Amino acid sequence: MTNNRAISSRKIESEALKQLEDISGVNVYACYQCGNCSSACPAVEFMDIPPHQVIRKVQLGFIDELIESETPWICAACITCTVKCPRGVDIAKVMEGLRQIVLRRDFEHINIREIDKKLREKLPQIALIGNFRKTIL
Ligand code: SF4
Ligand code: SF4
Repeated sequence: MTNNRAISSRKIESEALKQLEDISGVNVYACYQCGNCSSACPAVEFMDIPPHQVIRKVQLGFIDELIESETPWICAACITCTVKCPRGVDIAKVMEGLRQIVLRRDFEHINIREIDKKLREKLPQIALIGNFRKTIL
């Protein structure tokens, strides 16, 4: 296989998946589902989706399902999973990425690109800068 992002002949694309990749910088396609991350996670019994399944769902593009899950909020960011992964997948960063997507969705009431050009010229610069900091990586 030449493309390590392809888990089948079909390439998975979604805006949320792209956002998660941008935020976390993690190549989830390196995961081969050994389950070490879930075995080592001290909080797994409280999660509705265990860490290895989180990674699998990301691979399949089921980000919305993960965003509705409690798992990213149960995760204590202890990075045990990341340390135990034989494939170097930073699961803790993926969890953080999922939390960031939820937080940004809740607070992104303004899309700076949709503001009328004339109004944009009148707005205080600090308001625009504040928005750029929040919405641009
Ligand atoms: S430990 Fe790494 S390779 Fe194994 S299931 Fe978890 S993410 Fe995948
Ligand atoms: S970082 Fe989160 S998912 Fe990973 S082992 Fe710790 S609590 Fe579990």
